[in-house]
Amino acid sequence: MEKFISVFDMFKIAVGPSSSHTLGPWVAARRCLDKIQQSIGLENVLSVKVLLYGSLAKTGKGHGTDMAVMMGLMGEDPITTDTQLIMSKINAIKMNHSLLLNGVHALLFIYEDHIQFLKDQSLPHHPNALSFIVQTELEAFTFTYYSIGGGFIESEMDIATKLNQKNAVSEEKEMPFNFITTNDLLHWCMKTGMSISDIIRENEKTILEETLLNKELDHIWQTMLDCIYKGCHTEGTLPGGLQVRRRAFELNKKLLKDQHYTDQKSWLDLIQKGGTDFKYILDWVSCFALAVNEENASFGRVVTAPTNGAAGVIPSVLLYTILFCNKNTPSAIRNFLCTASAIGILFKNGATISAAMGGCQAEIGVSSAMAAAALTEALGDNQKQSLMAAEIAMEHHLGLTCDPVGGLVQIPCIERNTMGAIKAITAAQLALQSKPDFALVSLDKVIHTMWNTAQDMNVKYKETADGGLAIQIPIALAEC
Ligand code: SF4
Repeated sequence: MEKFISVFDMFKIAVGPSSSHTLGPWVAARRCLDKIQQSIGLENVLSVKVLLYGSLAKTGKGHGTDMAVMMGLMGEDPITTDTQLIMSKINAIKMNHSLLLNGVHALLFIYEDHIQFLKDQSLPHHPNALSFIVQTELEAFTFTYYSIGGGFIESEMDIATKLNQKNAVSEEKEMPFNFITTNDLLHWCMKTGMSISDIIRENEKTILEETLLNKELDHIWQTMLDCIYKGCHTEGTLPGGLQVRRRAFELNKKLLKDQHYTDQKSWLDLIQKGGTDFKYILDWVSCFALAVNEENASFGRVVTAPTNGAAGVIPSVLLYTILFCNKNTPSAIRNFLCTASAIGILFKNGATISAAMGGCQAEIGVSSAMAAAALTEALGDNQKQSLMAAEIAMEHHLGLTCDPVGGLVQIPCIERNTMGAIKAITAAQLALQSKPDFALVSLDKVIHTMWNTAQDMNVKYKETADGGLAIQIPIALAEC
């Protein structure tokens, strides 16, 4: 039995700018902290050294990997930490050469020595690998983790256990509607008449009582909306040294023509009152996506969807659905998230959601496919059309490379979210105007093709900043 992937694995509250390079290493540092507490004892630790390999070493500085591991080792939680204080905490460690392990045990920590970017080395299991070497008076312990995309983490131990469990009885809980492929998912939809979102809800209800499930989904959406709102109301230049100017602030002002509003609710009302002109809607869809990814690039709070780099696509399309398609009910919003997560799960099962494995098709391509299916369900209520929309969205992202300039999640990443959102809307419209039974390419086929393309893709285009735009723009890797 495959491990159950939850809607809350796809949508995780995180700190920018990257799920694989920031959230994953942050979670890994906290896992290492747990290990220390369980088997070594905080008080016995003399030092902790962090080794970053492969893609984490190459683009880790621009993606905040160093910051993330320090925050994790201090015991900070990415869901609750005050993002405004992150930089001052990191600067304090660098200046004082001291890190408080789990917030209580002071260690000598010299940034240049205790975090090593091993750009020429990689570990075999995955390009995003990191090791923590924990030194006590008697011995050194090494804990190695892999950040496998979307904030998911695997330890060496997890991998060994998986291998050993090949023939063992799985401890995973049986879901009412297990699915690996699109065919499996469609089978359940056809057999039960349930929508894709219903299938996901029923699976989730085996681990979370319905009221709590709704509460958590509402919390995810509110975090996305807060992020859009904050991004639309913050001006200035993004950190990292590229001098990228924030654009959502100006665009928001321009679109609202300086009309007065006092809070999120009155802001949304004003946007909706602005009409349905094509260019007006197009500008807002872009503005929402820019806002999220500018927040993401500023170490702000975002929701992985399914990754940080692609965090703007789904909130943007969902807000479009609410404001311009009149789908503003809690259940419509929850269903949107559930359907989107189903598509993300299919891609995680059949291909990858890691740019270090598959380039940007695995991030923006997947998020666009997720948004397309969810929008189609909201507007059409036909499961085959939703799956067709996801297929169309990914079909036109195939081969998309990951080449972030300066190793930062800014160029092309921020604008690319606007493209992912617009393509999702177009894919949904195309599917809604088509007959899915006549489609020649299935979603399973396109997932398979994406995975083949990922394997054929040169490593230069997989989040290494060694190719593409990253080497056309003559800017040295920026310091965070
Ligand atoms: S280019 Fe795409 S995959 Fe790469 S960091 Fe940017 S958004 Fe993520």
